[in-house]
Amino acid sequence: MAVPKRRTSKARKAKRRTHFKLEVPGMTACPNCGEFKKSHHVCASCGQYDGKEVISSEA
Ligand SMILES: [Zn+2]
Repeated sequence: MAVPKRRTSKARKAKRRTHFKLEVPGMTACPNCGEFKKSHHVCASCGQYDGKEVISSEA
């Protein structure tokens, strides 16, 4: 079984993990209700897109 010849240094490990993000990209706060939504998508909680367009029913 192949095994690493050298131990990965703290710096090398940290540099690799800079791509490791906690937050999901492409999520923005809804301008109407402030809930997190996918950008360029209709808000799941209030059903609005681009200010006034109500796409899904509230009831
Ligand atoms: Zn909303």
